[in-house]
Amino acid sequence: MTSCPVCGERFEIGDYNSLASHFNRNINKNDLSHIDWIRSNVPMADYESDTFVERLKAYFEIKPGKLSDWIWKRLIDKFFGEKPNPFIESMQRPKKVTFMGYSMENYPYVKQRVKSFAYVIAKTDSDDVQSYEAELISHDLVYNGKSNASNIALLLNMAESVGLPKETVMNTMPLPPTLHAIKLWNSIAETGHWLEIMASMNLLDLVYSPRVTEMGGKISFYGKGVIDNEWIPDEVKAYLKLSRDVTGKNADVALELVEKYSEDLNMVEIVQATFLRSIDALERHLQARATRIKQFEAR
Ligand SMILES: [Zn+2]
Repeated sequence: MTSCPVCGERFEIGDYNSLASHFNRNINKNDLSHIDWIRSNVPMADYESDTFVERLKAYFEIKPGKLSDWIWKRLIDKFFGEKPNPFIESMQRPKKVTFMGYSMENYPYVKQRVKSFAYVIAKTDSDDVQSYEAELISHDLVYNGKSNASNIALLLNMAESVGLPKETVMNTMPLPPTLHAIKLWNSIAETGHWLEIMASMNLLDLVYSPRVTEMGGKISFYGKGVIDNEWIPDEVKAYLKLSRDVTGKNADVALELVEKYSEDLNMVEIVQATFLRSIDALERHLQARATRIKQFEAR
């Protein structure tokens, strides 16, 4: 099936005519989320023109067996291209408040990851997928048998090292864009196919991958000098290293699994649309991290 990258409505496989009509209906209804999406992803002067369907088809077109290239391209264009994401930009020369904002909004996101991964395990019988997700859950909660080395523990340590008490991070309500993003991820986890859950959550970890620049990104998730910078606490460095060396590298395996199963299960188009909805949610969440940084700065 084909699916709308904005609202998730479904159409027959390869039915870009219906998808184009769906966009046109929403443009005529002045639906801002569809209008914003189509203008920024498939910019055209006239969406009523005959070439719209072709342009839409071209946007989703992938070479056989190359879903991963398409995923990388969309990810790089959105976060690491000519106009990098503002939060990622702030991670190039971070200040103390950068890590405060990062920790504060990232905590609820990590909690949702664990839930989404558990849903994948509950919904699939594939051994390779189950063991992959089990390892990720374990890495988020208990790493190498130690709860104090997990993703969540290191995240809270990072917060504390820049003056933000762990309890504050754990008990503060996330900002609306993060809440909105989490609502989407959780609803995909509850109602979606396990492969869609992987597309919505596991593939987001590619932003931390050390391969971002190799795949065409102008910058990586954080600046080259950050790890050597003397003022940056060791706890922050430990978290950043974990993101790159464990979370980011694991994402390559997720991408291989998603590529393999989306072809086996004939779900390539659904995976594409779900991934697009999810990177839009991630963009909102990163915006919330940037807003938090401004709030801490203003104090
Ligand atoms: Zn739609």
